[in-house]
Amino acid sequence: MSNTNSPIVRFRGVSKAYGGFVAIPSLDLDIARGEFLTLLGPSGSGKTTTLMLLTGFEMASGGVIELDGGRIETCPAHKRDIGVVFQNYALFPHMSVAENIAFPLRVRGLSRATVEAEVQRALAMVHLADKGGRRPGQLSGGQQQRIALARALVFKPRLIVLDEPLGALDKNLREQMQDELKALHRQLGITMVFVTHDQSEALTLSDRVAVFNHGRIEQLATPGDLYRRPASAFVAEFIGENNLVSGVVEQVAMDSVAVRADSGGLLHGVASGSLQAGEAVVVAVRPEQLELAGANDPGSLSGRVAQVTYYGDSYRVDIDAEGIGRLKVKLTGSDDKAVPEVGAAVGICMAGNVCRVLPKNK
Ligand code: ATP
Repeated sequence: MSNTNSPIVRFRGVSKAYGGFVAIPSLDLDIARGEFLTLLGPSGSGKTTTLMLLTGFEMASGGVIELDGGRIETCPAHKRDIGVVFQNYALFPHMSVAENIAFPLRVRGLSRATVEAEVQRALAMVHLADKGGRRPGQLSGGQQQRIALARALVFKPRLIVLDEPLGALDKNLREQMQDELKALHRQLGITMVFVTHDQSEALTLSDRVAVFNHGRIEQLATPGDLYRRPASAFVAEFIGENNLVSGVVEQVAMDSVAVRADSGGLLHGVASGSLQAGEAVVVAVRPEQLELAGANDPGSLSGRVAQVTYYGDSYRVDIDAEGIGRLKVKLTGSDDKAVPEVGAAVGICMAGNVCRVLPKNK
């Protein structure tokens, strides 16, 4: 057993191959006790495989996985003491809701009175105290997912993993369930490992997010760091909206890197790692970090408005910037008169050193 500061889960050089196909080449990952960690990435990037290796529904091809300081690579799923929630609920349709939730307690041989009390407690926790007698088919999608959550929590597992649990719900219900999940996490202090391909869901819910790409973690960081300091062009493109301009490093100074864009213009930004002159890079800058200026304002880029799109709370102005290419600028809180017409000549300026200079995706 380990102390409360040590990670609850450790992956060390973990690999997984399906036949000749290597889904996970070599994964290192520490999951902190009590954290809400999200595995985020595009379809096929290895999120579910990582979760399956943790739960024991798939066995690793190599490497070490530790849970609470003990090795579990060869331990069967039912002995790992991990609660699991899937997108498609996986409730037993022929059992009542209460029987579904009682199931993990019964297989552990608890007394009838304890089972009844714990089931009631779990039902109350997911706000469905009066639905114990129903069959899962008589509940809505959101209610069924709450039951699945109650069933995963009822036996007080060491951690709980959730694979796209809100994927089948409509937008409003999904947001409501996100709030409930967050509240439960706070209230119970249990470690939650969550899989999604929805970046806004990941940013909203998580203490940390691991961004997966081709079976590797591109970046593991807090939502704020991922958004403000993406470590690669892939992360910059995957998290939120970004303008990405490709170019070559011209000069590296102490706190700034000059990049010659492929279209000839010059941009300055902060490097995410060590870069050298001549290296191919991508400059990332968020639409909300760009501002409109007068067409000939000194220090601004010159451009012409190509498109204006209204989003209710903001406008997005697409501008063809000289020597740079197409840039999206987000205008918030501006009155309609400040929004330029398509075809207008404008300037674009940046509030400080807001460009991130990132290595090009390999
Ligand atoms: P999604 O968001 O679509 O669920 P994911 O990031 O969870 O994707 P995985 O399901 O982990 O991705 O799959 C990773 C890779 O491994 C994919 O290329 C997938 O086709 C492959 N893969 C997964 N399971 C198997 C399997 N049982 N047999 C063969 N290949 C598999």
